[in-house]
This record gives sequence, structure tokens and C-alpha cells, in this order.
Amino acid sequence: MNLTRLRRISPDVLELSWSDGHTGPCSVRTLRDNCPCAGCAGETVLMRTYPGSPAADDVPGKYELAAAEVVGSYAVQMTWGDGHREGLYTWEVLRSLCECPACGAARTGGGKPSWAGGNAADQQRG
Ligand SMILES: [Zn+2]
Ligand SMILES: [Zn+2]
Repeated sequence: MNLTRLRRISPDVLELSWSDGHTGPCSVRTLRDNCPCAGCAGETVLMRTYPGSPAADDVPGKYELAAAEVVGSYAVQMTWGDGHREGLYTWEVLRSLCECPACGAARTGGGKPSWAGGNAADQQRG
């Protein structure tokens, strides 16, 4: 599976098209929050896990996507308004962040968006 097209459909949303015919949106905020670089996501080296330390939410430009550049044929490098550009989003990562209704339902198993959280207490309320 390959990314065939990357399009900005609004200042805050990208649309990704895939070689299997799938097309879905992904908000730039989601992309930044899921930055896969070692600095944001943390890394495991020699069986020790180092937690990431992503920039604070109020860093100017954090959620402004300045550039998205395809690297090789396997990933997209995102450059952010705060200068952060270490994140390489592989096809696999990008596809897992697809926010179309079908992918959202498949991920949570119940049509509930992933950002709605997994608080069991919610189920008995209302
Ligand atoms: Zn990062
Ligand atoms: Zn999708």
C-alpha cells in the first residue's frame, strides 16, 4: 500500500489517498499529537524506555503545518510552525491516523471516535 496523494483540503485538514483506493481526512492537530519522532513519542534503546517530551500545546506554531514533503517512497516529513521537523510519518503511521468514519469505527470497534476516550464510566451514564 502506498500513499498516492496528499492534499490540503483546509488549513487544518489533510486528505490522504491510498493505492488501495481509500481516501480519508486527517487533521494536522492529530498529526502533530502523533508525531513519531523519538523526541515526541519516546524511544526504547537497549531495553530502556525513554519517554518523549513533546512541545507544550501553547508553543507558537505547534499546530501549524508549514510543509509536508514525501521522503523516498515510504514516508512524509512534516515541518511545523515551531520549527519541529524530526517526525517521519511512514505510510503505516499515516494510514493508522485516517479519520474517515470507516477507519474510526474499525479502530474503536463501535463507531465512537478514538478521541472520545475509553472511560468505562461513560457507558452507564445518560
Ligand atoms: Zn516530533
Ligand atoms: Zn479511512
